[in-house]
Formats: sequence, C-alpha cells, structure tokens
Amino acid sequence: MHTPIPKSFTVNERTYAWPHAPVVVVCIDGSQPGYIEAAVTAGETPFFDRVINDGAYLSADCVIPSFTNPNNLSIVTGCPPHVHGISGNYFLDSESGEEVMMNDPKFLRAPTVFQTFQDAGGKVAVITAKDKLRRLLGHGLHFGQEGATCFSSEHADTATLAENGIENVLDLVGMNAPDVYSAALSEFVFAAGVKIMERDRPALMYLSTTDYIQHKFAPGAPEANDFYAMMDGYLERLDAMDAVIALTADHGMNAKHDHETHQPNVIYLQDLLDRAFGPNACRVILSITDPYVVHHGALGSFATIYTDASIVDEIAEHIDEIVGIDKVLSRQEACDFFELPGERIGDLTVVSEQDFVLGTRKKDHDLSGLTVPLRSHGGTSEQKVPMLLNRPVHGIEERRLRNFDAFDLALNHVSAD
Ligand SMILES: [Zn+2]
Repeated sequence: MHTPIPKSFTVNERTYAWPHAPVVVVCIDGSQPGYIEAAVTAGETPFFDRVINDGAYLSADCVIPSFTNPNNLSIVTGCPPHVHGISGNYFLDSESGEEVMMNDPKFLRAPTVFQTFQDAGGKVAVITAKDKLRRLLGHGLHFGQEGATCFSSEHADTATLAENGIENVLDLVGMNAPDVYSAALSEFVFAAGVKIMERDRPALMYLSTTDYIQHKFAPGAPEANDFYAMMDGYLERLDAMDAVIALTADHGMNAKHDHETHQPNVIYLQDLLDRAFGPNACRVILSITDPYVVHHGALGSFATIYTDASIVDEIAEHIDEIVGIDKVLSRQEACDFFELPGERIGDLTVVSEQDFVLGTRKKDHDLSGLTVPLRSHGGTSEQKVPMLLNRPVHGIEERRLRNFDAFDLALNHVSAD
C-alpha cells in the first residue's frame, strides 16, 4: 500500500508539476552576468560550457533591493517581497523606534516551495552557506522524520536530526568546518549537496552560496574563475545523477570605487541630511547591514529613510540633487516599482547609481575590513542575473523572467527527453 504520487503542488498561487527527476536550484550569491562567461572562456568549466550550448542560457531580473535575503526568499517562495514580507535585513519598528532584524522566520508570511512540497509527501534538502538564511529557508519544514534536511555550512559541525534533519555532516561530506569568510564556505554547500543527492536523492534541492569571492574579484579574475571551476565540478556530478539543474543569482555585483584612487564612492546620506535638515529630522536605514559586514563595510546601493510627512517631499528633492543618486521614491512608488511591502520600508527609498554606495554616518562605517577596492550591490544596476538550466526550456516566450521563476522553469518548462 502506498499513497499515489501527486501530479502537482501549489504554493503562493503558482502551481508546479511534481518532479520526475530531482530538481536542484542553485543560487550563486552575487553572480553578476560575466562571471560564468569568463570562466567558460578560460576553458575551466565543461559543465557551464555544455549548459550554455545545449541547455537554456537566459537572464532574469532579481528583486530590489538587490540583496541576499529578499532574493533568496523570493526564489524559494516564487513571489516578490510584498508577498513574502522580507524586504531587507532591517526595518524600523515604528512603535519602538528600534531597527529590527528581519532574519527571524516570524517576519516571513508566505510558505516556501519546500514546506508545501514536504507536506505533500516530497523529500527536500536545503543547504545554505551562512546560517543567517537557514532559519528562513527552513521555515515550516518538519525535521526528525524522513523528508527534510536544512543546514548551513557555517554551522554544519553542530547540525542535529531534530533541528536540521541531519547529523554528522562533516563526516558525510569529508571536509572540515569552513571559515565564514572563505570560498570554502560555498564549496562545502556543493560538496554536501552531491553527497546528499547520492545518499537520499531528494526530489527538490536548494543550494545557496555566499558572495565572498564576488565581493573581492571581478569576472575573469583568476580567483573568480577558480571559484566557478570549483562549482562546475560538483554540478557535473549532480548532472550525472540526472538532476534538472537551474542556476540563478540573488543579485549581481559591481565595482563601487573610484578607478584611480580605489577609494569607495560613498554617499553618507545621514551626514548629508543631518547637515541640511538637523540631526533628528530623518533616519537612514541600510538594509544590507547584517552581522557579516567585513567584506562590504555595510555599504550597498540601497537605503530607506524614515522621516516626518511634513518634510518628506523637501528631503526627496534634496537627495535627488546629490551626485550619484539614481532614484528617490516615495513609499507608494517603491511598493509599485519594486514590489515591496509598504509597512517594512521607510517613507523614502533611495537607490544609488552603479558606481556609488549609500552610507549612514561616516563614523559608523568600519572600512578597515575592506582589503580590496569595494565591490557591492543593492541597486537596479545589480538587477540582471543569470538564469541557466542544464536542459532546454519551452513555453516562456515574451515573458520577463525573474530569478524567482527558477522553480517554475525547472519544474514546468523543461522539455521532456
Ligand atoms: Zn547575496
């Protein structure tokens, strides 16, 4: 006696065909278009080479802010931030006046693809590099029984059956626990993905890396090519196990420094607004800020500002005049253009041009960890991301592809053999 396999499952008003082969969605953190192509040109990536020639070689738009958490949550829920609620790493709680970190699952208000799939009887495995994402990605999964695995390489050494659905991960993978600021943190994700695919053959797998390499090295740099060659090797092995693989990114990555002095091009918004409007007239929140800021100094191309309704227009006009500013949007405009949840952004949303980043007060940014000229993300200049599948796809003509269509493409649009 066994329960029949469902034909499909529906999450957040999108219906997905039940997979016949394992589906692996890979979010390559910070994979600006150009990295994969440069590695292919260097001749180090046979898998990517084959995907570009024989699979689907597409590009997609990520969600703005082009930051890690909003985009990872969009990819795994199949919908934009106004549906899932995660609009950045921080928002300002208007009642307490405190900056609240949004990495607690209580802020997530849509089920993930994994949660619904497991509830329908499917087996899932979710592996992320940094632990900050793990609880959000694994929200609603039932551990301690067959069917779900979710852990981070950062905390792989302490994974338990009760919390992660897996234990003894280091023994399984055959690697030591990697340092949080390293390429090995991402390699561990792939190495674990291959081992778990061999052992458990989950029907849905999600692998999410860190952008440690992309923050430091431009496309085509030897270190970047090596990183993509590393991924290529593991993806070859997943491909050999007949997995349907979709590769996308949470956001792109661009140089944000002066090309002669190599100093970051920072617009310290809080300093500028304090000078123009007085010290407490507004509050600049940088939603890139998180516990791991060493590699970007908490500097990205997106900020949201809380202020008083009586001066909001004046402040918007002032910001609009600043060199390096791309857009200043009202709350409603930001919701409309960027599909953001209005109650989790400020009265104004500011996006800088490609070469610039936004800061709060100069004294509040510790740039001592920036060992190389700043590369970062957050704006519309980092919105284009790759979308590659190891099989041809059909039925997507004339559609604006988003990175959060990855599961849809892999489950609904891959050509039958
Ligand atoms: Zn990222």
